[in-house]
Amino acid sequence: MHATHEVTNQPTPLVDYNLFETNRPLRDALKLNVPQLDTAPLTALGAAVGTATMQTHARLANVHTPQLHSHDRQGRRIDQVEFHPSYHALMTAAVGAGLHGTPWAEHVATTLGTGVSSLPPEGALAPRGGPSALTPSPHVLRAAGFMLFTELEPSMLCPISMSYAATPALRRNAALYADWGPRLTSRQYDPVLKPVLQKAGVTMGMGMTEKQGGSDVRANTTQAVADGNDAWGARYRLTGHKWFFSAPMCDAFLVLAQAPAGLSCFFLPRVLPDGTLNALYIQRLKDKLGNKANASSEVEFVQATAWLLGEEGRGVPQILEMGTMTRLDCALGSSGLMRQALALALNHTRQRLAFGKPLIEQELMRNVLADLALESEAATALSIRLARAFDRPGDAHEQLMARLLTPVAKFWICKRGAGFAQEAMECLGGNGYVEEGGEGVMARIYREMPVNSIWEGAGNIMALDLLRALRKGDVASALAQELAPALGQHAALDRLARSLPQRVEAMATETEARRLAQDVALAVQAALLARSAPPAVFAAFCASRLGGDWGQTFGSLGSGTDFQAILERALPQ
Ligand SMILES: Cc1cc2nc3c(=O)[nH]c(=O)nc-3n(C[C@H](O)[C@H](O)[C@H](O)COP(=O)(O)OP(=O)(O)OC[C@H]3O[C@@H](n4cnc5c(N)ncnc54)[C@H](O)[C@@H]3O)c2cc1C
Repeated sequence: MHATHEVTNQPTPLVDYNLFETNRPLRDALKLNVPQLDTAPLTALGAAVGTATMQTHARLANVHTPQLHSHDRQGRRIDQVEFHPSYHALMTAAVGAGLHGTPWAEHVATTLGTGVSSLPPEGALAPRGGPSALTPSPHVLRAAGFMLFTELEPSMLCPISMSYAATPALRRNAALYADWGPRLTSRQYDPVLKPVLQKAGVTMGMGMTEKQGGSDVRANTTQAVADGNDAWGARYRLTGHKWFFSAPMCDAFLVLAQAPAGLSCFFLPRVLPDGTLNALYIQRLKDKLGNKANASSEVEFVQATAWLLGEEGRGVPQILEMGTMTRLDCALGSSGLMRQALALALNHTRQRLAFGKPLIEQELMRNVLADLALESEAATALSIRLARAFDRPGDAHEQLMARLLTPVAKFWICKRGAGFAQEAMECLGGNGYVEEGGEGVMARIYREMPVNSIWEGAGNIMALDLLRALRKGDVASALAQELAPALGQHAALDRLARSLPQRVEAMATETEARRLAQDVALAVQAALLARSAPPAVFAAFCASRLGGDWGQTFGSLGSGTDFQAILERALPQ
């Protein structure tokens, strides 16, 4: 009771609930893609990331942002970034859950023996028994975990994602892989900068973007000069800069630089094997729109020591191997954020009364919420489908799907994210726009959304990459095969499915690339919903997204939509 009024009609925050158990679209997507998957680890993770304690860590890590200490008190360079203890708590949890490297654990164990990877899992969220090397679909399991963790805090997942993505590229240098591979799959978070052999676990980042060229990495000017050989292979000295260099407290980075034979991929550790700091100087931290808990820096290399991965001159395809995995994570991340924004909107509108009844019972609000629910479920379905492709690298169809759907999913899901977040925020009215307290999470989601669309290849770059993917095999037949199980269930999907393979074969021009990426995404999403979602969701998705019964904002589904069924399915309780 306040002196002037009683506080009423303000919803209670969404906290202490199981994010996995209450996410029917995710559970059904997993059932469709990997029916035999043991989801017990996800239930454990879903409970852990939904707690008030973890949500407090997420808030504190965003409020107390990373601080750069370029020098110590005595004026010596140290180039260290200091994080709030809550950031470390989140990192401990994410590494403990294996989100940074579990899918590679089996390869590490079989090629290198148990080594450090046999260290017992640590951290509050380490799910008992998994995700583990024995899981039949480790990438799918990890993808679902990544989506759940995104709902807790997305920005600190940047180094987690880069560590996941960097590991396969390291195999190109067996000696480096032997020392670093086991530590990259270890479940122990060890944030102290020290030589790799003294570490229980490590994280990795990547440095491609320079001032004069980001998307066009061929414009990179950082120079690499040969400097002999040692236990880790061909050693070089790197001089130059990186304009965006996220998570600079990672233990090592994959970096692009110009060698005599052309742009090459190098492995650059923060601490050299003799314990000295490598010549990587952090100039400043970026002041970003969102992504606050994560440090993104600008760096310079002054004859920094690095080791060659693979061959000189093959840097772009090598680092793109890493880029493909981080692009998957962009799609997963945006899908996770959509789900979280939707859950918050549903939680609010169920409790908030306006004009005599709960907002969720107002017809037009039901249209908005149901439309968001369709978008969120379609994003989840496509993301998990894409992750499945990474679990079957030996399967020709899955290889083509990974190549095709990576740019498609990254383009479409991330593009839809910002508009989605704005609409979900509006469901909370003015509270949605306010940073403070539990509901401030919505503002955080809104500020975070655009980054997944920009980094790791912005929208146009993804659409252009789709055109390259079309030349990688019989993509038209693979796409037709992918859509076939859903044919005959909705006229609009049938029409699109019939026309798409021809458009794919005809090879779209650059001008048409975004339209093609959109249509492939929508067709695959609809085909997945036909099999994993209830008829009400599938029908409304097809009618609106494919059949034209839709306006230009969320909340414009046709009046024949089964709003009740769609909303009941989406509710987080
Ligand atoms: C928070 C944050 C963290 C980041 N962290 C890292 C990191 O750790 N490591 C790293 O290497 N990079 C990082 N980046 C950089 C990011 O990957 C680049 O910003 C991105 O790839 C785009 O490059 P650019 O900024 O140079 O823009 P540009 O390449 O100049 O592109 C600008 C626009 O032009 C479009 N465009 C480019 N070429 C074409 C074309 N041929 N046709 C049509 N359109 C085109 C792009 O789609 C984009 O919309 C980070 C960025 C952000 C925002």
